[in-house]
Amino acid sequence: MQSEKQNLKTIQLQVRNRKISDRLTQFRIARKLHPVTYLRTIMSVADREIIVKDPSSGELRNMLMFASNNYLGLANHPHVKDRVRKAIDEFGCGIGGPPLLNGYIRLIQEAEERLAALKGQQAALLYSSGFMANIGIVGALAERNDVIIYDELSHASFYDGTLLTKAKAVMFSHNDMQHLETLLAYYQAKNTSNILVCAEGVYSMDGNLGHLDKMAVLCKKYGALFIVDDAHGTGVLGENGSGTASFLHCSNDVDINMGTFSKVFATSGGFVAASADMVDYLRFNSRPYIFSASVSPPVAATVLGGLDVMEKEPWLRTQLLENVKYAIEKLSGFGFYATPEAAIIALKIPELMDMRKASCLFHQKNIFINPIEYPAVPVELQRFRISLMSTHTKQDIDKLANAVEEVWNDKNAYSN
Ligand code: PMP
Repeated sequence: MQSEKQNLKTIQLQVRNRKISDRLTQFRIARKLHPVTYLRTIMSVADREIIVKDPSSGELRNMLMFASNNYLGLANHPHVKDRVRKAIDEFGCGIGGPPLLNGYIRLIQEAEERLAALKGQQAALLYSSGFMANIGIVGALAERNDVIIYDELSHASFYDGTLLTKAKAVMFSHNDMQHLETLLAYYQAKNTSNILVCAEGVYSMDGNLGHLDKMAVLCKKYGALFIVDDAHGTGVLGENGSGTASFLHCSNDVDINMGTFSKVFATSGGFVAASADMVDYLRFNSRPYIFSASVSPPVAATVLGGLDVMEKEPWLRTQLLENVKYAIEKLSGFGFYATPEAAIIALKIPELMDMRKASCLFHQKNIFINPIEYPAVPVELQRFRISLMSTHTKQDIDKLANAVEEVWNDKNAYSN
């Protein structure tokens, strides 16, 4: 069992319903009692090896990065950086307005066209983040007599989006097609105006794939609109990185493809690719699109540069998948969740392990991996998440596997 004291949930419970000033104090005390490796200051480019300022000693450490969604190493790719430099020269650093009014530059238009093509859709639009894209889709489409049926492991942004609508939102058990069909049949029989079904291409906590092909069939059968968040599949799966739906041969059956620039594109921002009518509707009805500034020229250029690299350097994806395969082999003695086609490995922690202590031990060994704690996952399912990159070497992965073995065998990683 996890030590009762050491998770955010228990801290939140302790301070619930107190005055805000008391909550802040309690939270500060609790945080000090349990030092963790959050908010480490990175002093270098984001690559397989990074320089980190040690939070306690202030010393600089060279660490191997296994926590970044920079899956193809695009954050530091010469072509991408070159395109960004040119974009800054031509368009400056920012735009100073939302797209509908005064923030729609040529680079954004070009990025939209290319993302639409990547996803096999007619059109696309960009949001300031993937989080906003998810909120924007649900907020614009779901109304009072509609129902949103979503996978229980959907991202927080999607869930938060459902809270902002008057539609009914119900979860289906993770990847459980029977449960989904039961709900679809039930709400169809109730003459619900619209049924929206939402799932992910690659689930970010377990690295497994959504059963998009099967869901697409069910959506067609029950006349539901099918929305796919492919934050972690875009750039990794499918031809040229077109994503999980393409990998599962069902791209034509997805109505709305959502993606983010914070993973493979290694910048910030998000997008939606769909029919021309859908995209035009979202442009004028999706509040995070209407009332928030455009992505900046450097962001649009990063996306364009990334798309160039994805087309011209397919070996980066091959290399990434080889790294995943090798890491799965090396970590086979430890419990984990992983899918060889995706770049995420979730390491289950031994029962009595104290994640925060283990996390500090990884830090001391110069291995940067993330503890995934509540509320990202339920307390009993807390784990370490490893993200692979195409730029990792086999030696990097060997060092990771050795560190995992050492931490797993270190009594200092366990509750007293
Ligand atoms: N959806 C999923 C599945 C994600 O993993 C994330 C990022 N953690 C988002 C949406 C939000 O994307 P962004 O970081 O661009 O806000």
